[in-house]
Amino acid sequence: KINSPLEAYKYLPQTNCGECGEPTCMAFASKLIDRSGKTTDCPPLVKEKKFAKKLAELDKLLAPEIREVAIGVGDRVAKIGGDDVLYRHKLTFFNKTKMFFDVTDTMEEAALVERVKKITDYKKFYVGRNLLLDGVAIRAASNDPAKFAAAVKKVIENTELPVILCSFNPAVLKAGLEVAKDKNPLLYAANKDNWKEVGELALEYKVPVVVSAFNDLDTLKSLAKTFAEAGIKDIVLDPGTYPSGKGLKDTFTNFLKIRRAGIMGDTEIAYPIMAMPLTAWMSGISDPVSASYWETVLSSVFTIRYGDIMLLHSMEPYATMPEVHLAETIYTDPRSPVAVDSKMYKVGTPDENSPVLFTTNFALTYYTVESDLASNGINCWLLAVNTDGIGVEASVAGGQLTADKVKEAFEKSGFDLKKDVTHNTVITPGLAARLQGDIEDKLGAKVLVGPMDSGRLPGFMEKNWPP
Ligand code: SF4
Repeated sequence: KINSPLEAYKYLPQTNCGECGEPTCMAFASKLIDRSGKTTDCPPLVKEKKFAKKLAELDKLLAPEIREVAIGVGDRVAKIGGDDVLYRHKLTFFNKTKMFFDVTDTMEEAALVERVKKITDYKKFYVGRNLLLDGVAIRAASNDPAKFAAAVKKVIENTELPVILCSFNPAVLKAGLEVAKDKNPLLYAANKDNWKEVGELALEYKVPVVVSAFNDLDTLKSLAKTFAEAGIKDIVLDPGTYPSGKGLKDTFTNFLKIRRAGIMGDTEIAYPIMAMPLTAWMSGISDPVSASYWETVLSSVFTIRYGDIMLLHSMEPYATMPEVHLAETIYTDPRSPVAVDSKMYKVGTPDENSPVLFTTNFALTYYTVESDLASNGINCWLLAVNTDGIGVEASVAGGQLTADKVKEAFEKSGFDLKKDVTHNTVITPGLAARLQGDIEDKLGAKVLVGPMDSGRLPGFMEKNWPP
């Protein structure tokens, strides 16, 4: 494992040709170390035969501590694992926790299709992006190969999402695999009783597989080791998820032990971990609202502590919303603030008489302002100035938001205050009031100082617009 650009540099062609988009090989080496670049981004390294050995060695040395496993195919492939650190602030976490929702092969066909569509179509808009669910876990409640195969067929006909085939019966898994073999499904699961047959299926169909040992890390590790020695690379670990009581404490400890060992270099257990919040439904809680509640609690715990993939049941908004939001937040890269593109945006249907405002490109700021304007029916032009994703107050103080930056953003956007609108006026955020004079000078435009809080924009517009 290598951790410094200097070490990675030794494996690069060292010609500074610039084909990777970086001015020097050393700059590219830094990108490899922080994982913002891949070895395949260096054409000479990939194409020239004389570098083949170095490329293979470098790829091995740069591989993440926790193996990355892909489930499914195409645009919606679910990648899990791939982490290098125990704490996000030490680098970042990669591959957000993937959430798979269950269906069973005993469901009525119409209900099955409806639920699959609901899982597939789930969408929650959050800070400029849609949060989605990641896959369907098909549980063989019937334990009947033919019934299971029919349910798998129905599911894959109705979704592009990756699937997990769930049964401890190898014959049932094989029937499902025959139907879904082109979809790279995840097999759940091999345990101490069926590992031989399930391992053979994973090898024969070349699919990822879960090894499962309930609250027994020695057996779990031994199963993973046996599979790895047999040539199975894509392994996921299921140490069991107790829903409550002392068992939950054990589960939490197991997750920590596994991930700590994996990050510290124990390659025999350095695989993604599966959590099963849906065990909340099997813990004797009869009230569905309470079961959903506990499922969300479990999901939160194991999103924060090392669950790479989860099996869930409740699709109540009060259960899914916190789950997807938390995963999004935990997996946000702390090295780069969430930002929107720096450009001129239309809010509603603005024309040449509409107001022109600017804010920063920090996503939370931008979407708050945009939503305050749009929800109040204010048609306008809204410029997002590139402040490296920093909010208004901090970027004015830190020098990322200046009159020059505002001018540069207008120029880059192609929006001309003198030609595209009739009023040659721009509204600045209240927190950037001290830039008013400078911006007037730089833009040659009238500058109105807007309110300190974008929630007050409607009142401000009533009093001050048209100027
Ligand atoms: Fe160096 Fe490769 Fe980038 Fe060229 S493409 S500068 S050889 S890292």
